[in-house]
Amino acid sequence: MNKNTISKKWLYLPIICMIFTMSLGLFIFNSTLSDWLEKKVEGGMSEEISRVIKEINDDQVSFSDLKALDVYIKTKLELAKEDHVTIIKADGTPIADSDISLEAVLRLENHLNRKEVVDAKNLNYGTTTRFSTSRFKNLLYSAQSFDYQGQTYIVRVATPLTRIDAMVEELMNILIILMGINISLVIGSSLLSNKLIQQQVQNEQDLQEDRIEQRTQEIELLHRLATMLAACNSINEAQMVVEDILPRILGNVNGVISLMRSSRNQLLVKLDWGGVWPGSKTYAPEECWALRKGKFHLANDKYTTLPCSHMSATGEDQTLCIPLTAHGNTIGMMHIYLGDKEDLEPDVQKLAFTVAEHLGLALANLNLQEKLREQAISDPLTGLYNRRYYEETINQEIMRAHRHKQEMSILMLDLDHFKRFNDNYGHDAGDYVLKTIGTLLLNTMRGEDTICRLGGEELAIILPSTNAEDALAVANGLCASVSDLHLAIKELSLGKLSVSIGISTYPKNGQQSDDLTKLADIALYEAKGRGRDQACHYDDLIQSSEAIKEAIETKCDNTKTKETTVVAINA
Ligand code: GH3
Ligand code: MG
Ligand code: MG
Repeated sequence: MNKNTISKKWLYLPIICMIFTMSLGLFIFNSTLSDWLEKKVEGGMSEEISRVIKEINDDQVSFSDLKALDVYIKTKLELAKEDHVTIIKADGTPIADSDISLEAVLRLENHLNRKEVVDAKNLNYGTTTRFSTSRFKNLLYSAQSFDYQGQTYIVRVATPLTRIDAMVEELMNILIILMGINISLVIGSSLLSNKLIQQQVQNEQDLQEDRIEQRTQEIELLHRLATMLAACNSINEAQMVVEDILPRILGNVNGVISLMRSSRNQLLVKLDWGGVWPGSKTYAPEECWALRKGKFHLANDKYTTLPCSHMSATGEDQTLCIPLTAHGNTIGMMHIYLGDKEDLEPDVQKLAFTVAEHLGLALANLNLQEKLREQAISDPLTGLYNRRYYEETINQEIMRAHRHKQEMSILMLDLDHFKRFNDNYGHDAGDYVLKTIGTLLLNTMRGEDTICRLGGEELAIILPSTNAEDALAVANGLCASVSDLHLAIKELSLGKLSVSIGISTYPKNGQQSDDLTKLADIALYEAKGRGRDQACHYDDLIQSSEAIKEAIETKCDNTKTKETTVVAINA
């Protein structure tokens, strides 16, 4: 049983009560009306009797002449329609009647057993209702005694009750019709109002369900946003998440996330969604009211119109800036551009604050994660990648080369007589040389090349999509660039620097990263052996796979002694 059926049942209860009370009222009204009408009729009859007595007195009818009295009573007396009058002696003998013949009157039984007659004799007036056996209907009898010509007589007037009944019935019919109309109107209006109320309740329920669904969707989206941001490894990935999820949460507005530089003197737009950003992409903290207030800022509200300077290009359009905080620090800002729209819906504005909370924490974590990763994979002295990154990347590049059926090469570099710089000019000079080489490589190599410092003065470069010939050309170029370097500290020249480079190429020299590294190492030692300041490709040393194997094994043995013992196995 649902709520609707329950309410319908309750709806019928007052109607049933109303019908019951109306029926009771009708019943009471009916009997009261009958009594009242009887009384009314009785009153009329009493008047009629008085009039009859007066007429008899006026006309001085002789009661001793029964025939004359009979004629008089039947012809002269004026009576109401359907009424009839009887004259009865005090001993109860009827002597005249307006309806029946004199003979019949004289045959009538003594009337002293009639209540109205007895009351009239004793109390002057009597009345009763009774079924008349001579007229076969219910009659109302009223009788009054009067003295006439030295004797006491009783005048009795009878009127049929059907008249009263007809009047009552007529009135009752009118009442019943009125009640029927009334009940129908009440039922109809109750049903209509019930239907309207139920419709309103249903609308309210639908609205509520819509709201709940919308809230659930928002919660799910916020949850997804938080989960996806937590799973991001880089700002680029965060951009994809923001671009996908934020328009679904905040609707058709465009916005950006700017992050504070570690120097805290500038904010840079890092993430965006929903179209071209009309504001500045870099700005100083002083240019944003929200950042200065440490609280969100709406450019136009009902009190002020104060746009931020970094949004000056938007004129007087509406913008909302929300600080992104994490661990008590403002790490950046979320800016939303609303165009000429007056304001964000209050619900959407709340959502924007929740989004900002999620973004603040997630981006702070991402920043920290990126810094840690940066530290984990980079060499602090030169700013190049470290050995760990080299090992990760070479495997990835081998797989990529395999997928694209391309060649790739690695260069293994070792600075020649580097120890001398340390010995002659101190460790700082050695560090300076290493930094200078790092900068040179970063400036010389392509963006897709991976430059790593493996340790000491040993470096490695991964060259994707590069065959042996091109790799050798690049290595020769590097040797020349290093030779051209003028190394000096505080105008003290450190002398010439040179580098030896060994090269191996995937897939022809090896398929595994370890093999390629070792073979490039072998080529490097060969370059050292050949007099340093030069590049040597492993292809120049060996050609057969058995020879490669042998060379790797030899290299493994010799690594311990760090001696260049590679035998050229050129056939
Ligand atoms: P070769 O031409 O045979 O390579 O001679 P080399 O002197 O370059 O090679 P060796 O391996 O004998 O010397 C490398 C030196 O590099 C030894 C070590 O003190 C120095 N070195 C290693 N790491 C650093 C560093 O971070 N800073 C400085 N200044 N020197 C370093
Ligand atoms: Mg070395
Ligand atoms: Mg060296």
